[in-house]
Amino acid sequence: MMNSDQYRTSLDDGRTVYFDGQPVDDVREHPVIGPCATLVAQSYDRIGELYPDGSPFTMAPRSLDDLREANEAIRPLGIMTLLTYASMMAMTTAASRIEEASAASDFPDRIRGMLEDFRERDVRFAQCITDAKGDRSLAPGKQSDPDAYTRVVKRSEEGVWIRGAKLHITGASLAHELMVIPTKAMKPGEEDYAIACCVPVNAPGVTIVDTSTAPTPSERPQSPFSSTDSFPEAMVIFDDVFVPNERLMLDGEIGMAAIFAHSLGLWERVAGLTHMVDDAELLVGLAHLIAEANGLLKVSHINQKISDLIMHATMLRASLDAALSNGSQGEDGTMFPNELYTNAGKYFGASNWHPMVQKVQEIAGGSVITAPTLADLNNPEIGATVKRYMTGATADGEYRARLFHAIRDLTAGNFGGWKAVTKVQGGGGLYAQRIVTRKHFDLNAAREAALHATGLEIPSAD
Ligand SMILES: Cc1cc2nc3c(=O)[nH]c(=O)nc-3n(C[C@H](O)[C@H](O)[C@H](O)COP(=O)(O)OP(=O)(O)OC[C@H]3O[C@@H](n4cnc5c(N)ncnc54)[C@H](O)[C@@H]3O)c2cc1C
Repeated sequence: MMNSDQYRTSLDDGRTVYFDGQPVDDVREHPVIGPCATLVAQSYDRIGELYPDGSPFTMAPRSLDDLREANEAIRPLGIMTLLTYASMMAMTTAASRIEEASAASDFPDRIRGMLEDFRERDVRFAQCITDAKGDRSLAPGKQSDPDAYTRVVKRSEEGVWIRGAKLHITGASLAHELMVIPTKAMKPGEEDYAIACCVPVNAPGVTIVDTSTAPTPSERPQSPFSSTDSFPEAMVIFDDVFVPNERLMLDGEIGMAAIFAHSLGLWERVAGLTHMVDDAELLVGLAHLIAEANGLLKVSHINQKISDLIMHATMLRASLDAALSNGSQGEDGTMFPNELYTNAGKYFGASNWHPMVQKVQEIAGGSVITAPTLADLNNPEIGATVKRYMTGATADGEYRARLFHAIRDLTAGNFGGWKAVTKVQGGGGLYAQRIVTRKHFDLNAAREAALHATGLEIPSAD
């Protein structure tokens, strides 16, 4: 297993990274990306302490207990651990599904061989799914720019060359491997777009253009959530990147192009749902604490909003519990979370984030965005006065100001904006969760129940 020093050293591998228009010579020293590299390094040491015999997050869960334990244990270990777990689970799942679809395919063996190597090297993954996509109404093969979806541009006996860009890729500049997979199903004529492979982050032709909503150094002390949870997202450009045969997971098989996105979607959404639960409970806690600090705990409309937040958090926890307790076992023994509850829960949490945030902001008041900073509170000339006027029903103005900053960070600052968009778009967006939920919901049983309850029969056509 890697330790923090080895991880930090591994980042010095010639990767090409840009941030805000400037090349980044060393991600470890960069003022925005560097602190995230430190967090990932720390998570390596933490995993080493907790699991001296090897990380359990590279092996597929075999039972409901495994599934629940992994989901619980992985949360404090940071986003790169989570992305790596979801990627490796998706590859494991995809290998089995390819085997089921085509017994003759040798991709499953290649995928399993790669997984062995990734486990041994203890690497971290970024997931490259979302293409640039150009005109959304047109299929990959119909775009005016043929590279709007990542594709194979050249083949040889040794491998393929890929070109295109994947957008919004979380943690790409801090990973070792890019799992590159098609974003959707492909049609006849789109064989070159049915490409799935693993590419080292430092492969020639890979360029990572990072963006971030991380707090500035002076904002960090008053930004408890974004200081640890804000990781760079990137446009990852593949400019004729060579991928050797042994790193291919699919090449041209259009009928299997969607297998990877579907396999990843489940693991990614159960992780998303888990975050929804954590965030929903945080909203409850913050709402109650600020109502108390404001002296409003006995006001009925404030309490009603807190009750609504509690209902929301409880329904989400119930969805997560249902997703993890009603899993199903695949033929290779992997225990999968329940698709219906995972997708419905994720959809419910995502589509209610904005109204729940509104309740917290309504309870809290305008200081969510106007509270003086901690630097103001600590200023020898104005600090005492600022604290005095930040005091509410509890006798400590700094405590109340810090609560406002925490609510701002989670709901109204740069990171709060990031959260709002990510809830709606992350994991394929609400639309994707709606489709999967409908696919797994037993609509016929509901129709039958309605007919039975009303004593009706569907009229015959003639
Ligand atoms: C913070 C963040 C992190 C992310 N991390 C990753 C990551 O690590 N890896 C990764 O691969 N992706 C990642 N994503 C991407 C995420 O999955 C996408 O944002 C999402 O799938 C939507 O794609 P898009 O942003 O291109 O929007 P679009 O596809 O343009 O969609 C915009 C809206 O239009 C609708 N729409 C689009 N096309 C059609 C159509 N043909 N018919 C009907 N409706 C349509 C969509 O449903 C959506 O509501 C991340 C996104 C965010 C915000």
